[in-house]
Amino acid sequence: MVETCVVVGAGVAAFGFVNTIREAGYQGRVVLVGAESVLPYERPPLSKQYLTGRKDEDALLFQPVSFYEERNIELRLGTPVEEIDLQRRVVRSADGNELSFDMLVLATGATPNRLPVPGAELAGIFTLRSLEDARALRAALAAAERVVVVGGGFIGCEVAASARTLGKQVALVETLPVLLGRALGVEIGSAITRVHERQGVALYLGRRVVGIEGRERAERVVLDDGTTLPCDLVVVGIGVRPVLPAVVGDLRFDDGVVVDATCATNVDGVWAAGDVARWWHPRIERFLRVEHYDNALAQGAAVAKAVAGQPEPYDAVPSFWSDQYDLTIQQYGYPVEWDEVVVRGDLDEPAFTAFYLKDGRVYGAVIVRWPREMRPARRLVEQLAQVDRTLLADPSVDLRQLLA
Ligand SMILES: Cc1cc2nc3c(=O)[nH]c(=O)nc-3n(C[C@H](O)[C@H](O)[C@H](O)COP(=O)(O)OP(=O)(O)OC[C@H]3O[C@@H](n4cnc5c(N)ncnc54)[C@H](O)[C@@H]3O)c2cc1C
Repeated sequence: MVETCVVVGAGVAAFGFVNTIREAGYQGRVVLVGAESVLPYERPPLSKQYLTGRKDEDALLFQPVSFYEERNIELRLGTPVEEIDLQRRVVRSADGNELSFDMLVLATGATPNRLPVPGAELAGIFTLRSLEDARALRAALAAAERVVVVGGGFIGCEVAASARTLGKQVALVETLPVLLGRALGVEIGSAITRVHERQGVALYLGRRVVGIEGRERAERVVLDDGTTLPCDLVVVGIGVRPVLPAVVGDLRFDDGVVVDATCATNVDGVWAAGDVARWWHPRIERFLRVEHYDNALAQGAAVAKAVAGQPEPYDAVPSFWSDQYDLTIQQYGYPVEWDEVVVRGDLDEPAFTAFYLKDGRVYGAVIVRWPREMRPARRLVEQLAQVDRTLLADPSVDLRQLLA
């Protein structure tokens, strides 16, 4: 009997998986079951080039359908899985069909948080995760003048930048005193905040949305200090949470599917990859869950090797980028609390590299408009290098000299 491997979710991590599974030598049946009715596609352009009309839908697909046919990957798209029964080893789709599996890969990603305020269900309020969300937002933006973005994380900042690029009036509301404060800290977040200010985004920092008003559609966003922001549409980017269908059986889930260093869950033959997975990182010896494109692809590929019988510890350094206006913010490193940020370059321009140090070691780096520093900065993070902070702060010192 041929073994069956079912992949639940057909997004970025699932693509990383199918792109590797046959090359890794797996000869079993592979079935990709995805809730969306489109072939796996790149999500990052949804808030950037797709929203501003510089990229169309066809350009988002990883591969055409022939790629899957050639690899003998069965596609069941537009078919959300409702229940995974780990005891009977079957997945049941919304259409009632059951599919038995020997191996199971969980690649269901994450879903946007909703604003918990009165009026949050009005028309004209958008979140952005899927191509369908992006289609709706792109169409609404075309007809809008005044946009309110709620949330100053990466999605909120990218949507604000895209809407400004399209010439819209943009107001952005964030509870922290700076943009990107959670991911990058106050110092680097301030540098990015100044970029948005200079681009004409009206910033409401340290403010909270308490309600959205309007007769049928969102017309005004109300803040905790009584400020009212008139709007034609609202985009909410206040984080995501990992999602899974109902599970029968004992699967460890704690802010994500908990997996070991090889991405295996506590259930034999069941694996997880991408935004839904919280894995044991063997290099820094703690559990991590990240929401990064590179991780989803690479972790999907690592799971493919494991399913094909060659499990290896997955110890990639997390990496992320974000495009806002003409800036690319490149980040490497571990989401751990740092004690100190060392900056070389100019935060105001901005053109700099910032290092995040913990116990004197380099745990993270952010590079803005300094591409030649990317490789050595990444190597310093990979090595968790212990470096002289004076040398690190001196832009005339070549980073390569600081590598072990
Ligand atoms: C707008 C946007 C911009 C981004 N920009 C960047 C960027 O610039 N840089 C970066 O590093 N990262 C970026 N990311 C993050 C990156 O895209 C994600 O980390 C990545 O998509 C995670 O891959 P995944 O496969 O885990 O989840 P996803 O790609 O979300 O795929 C999960 C799939 O599973 C499906 N699914 C869920 N539940 C079920 C079910 N019950 N049955 C069947 N299918 C199901 C979902 O519909 C979805 O298609 C961005 C994300 C978004 C949304």
